[in-house]
Amino acid sequence: MTTPDPLPPLRDVIERHDLRARKSLGQNFLLDLNLTAKIARQAGDLSACDVLEIGPGPGGLTRGLLSEGARKVLAIEKDARCLPALQEIADAYPNRLHVIEGDALNIDPLAHLTPPIRVASNLPYNVGTELLIRWLTPKQWPPFWQSLTLMFQREVAQRITADVGDKAYGRLAILSQWRCDARIVVSLPPEAFSPPPKVSSAVVHLSMLPEPRFPADFKTLERVVAAAFNQRRKMLRSSLKSVSPEIEDMLHAAGIKPTERAEQVSLEEFCALAREVAKA
Ligand code: SAM
Repeated sequence: MTTPDPLPPLRDVIERHDLRARKSLGQNFLLDLNLTAKIARQAGDLSACDVLEIGPGPGGLTRGLLSEGARKVLAIEKDARCLPALQEIADAYPNRLHVIEGDALNIDPLAHLTPPIRVASNLPYNVGTELLIRWLTPKQWPPFWQSLTLMFQREVAQRITADVGDKAYGRLAILSQWRCDARIVVSLPPEAFSPPPKVSSAVVHLSMLPEPRFPADFKTLERVVAAAFNQRRKMLRSSLKSVSPEIEDMLHAAGIKPTERAEQVSLEEFCALAREVAKA
């Protein structure tokens, strides 16, 4: 259920707490609460979910998530300067915001969350891809989250959602789409942020599939895809030599021409090839 945001405009909050953006922390803040509420709505029905937010900063998206009805938000922020502003939000939404100060790369959030869990973040660009890969490649599947709603540089968002044959198609598209539906749900120009970054941004929504889209052993699929895209301009029979000396036979058995290049091979074909490699 949507409730009106009871707090002062973000510009005032930033000024009052002297939150000048730091480049080293990837700080580009969203100030428009209509926009943060719109992003929060892309995460789905939050009323029965705990939400993990990395990098709340002064709390624009946090406020969007809470006013859009999130049961609880766990926010992990590295910049201690933001904590007083976040405390004001916690006071305005009693028992619904828990803030941890620290580096999201070193904190296990699970002890503080109750399933079902969704992740929604305007990620710091310097750690965004690393966190995404961690969330997509957990030790166990299903992962701890039901969906990820994440802001990235537009170019990274395109790599996540790319189709076979696209220039942006590669390892990130395959890792993401093997076990998730992934789509761009909001596109934002640099001016949507303060200060504006050099590039455009986009929010990607990834929802977990109950089963991988096609059967394959994860480690083998990862190995094949990494080798294929490390030398993306080479034909597969040569880029995949390191995977197996019998790779040409395996490619034939998977229905893939050995003269194809990685960007022409669909996710389904990569999974078929991973199954052939795993048999050997
Ligand atoms: N969510 C806010 C918004 O939308 O306006 C801020 C987004 S800003 C792009 C990224 C935020 O992540 C900053 O507040 C920054 O301090 C924080 N941050 C950067 N690196 C971090 C890390 N390793 N762990 C947790 N937070 C981090």
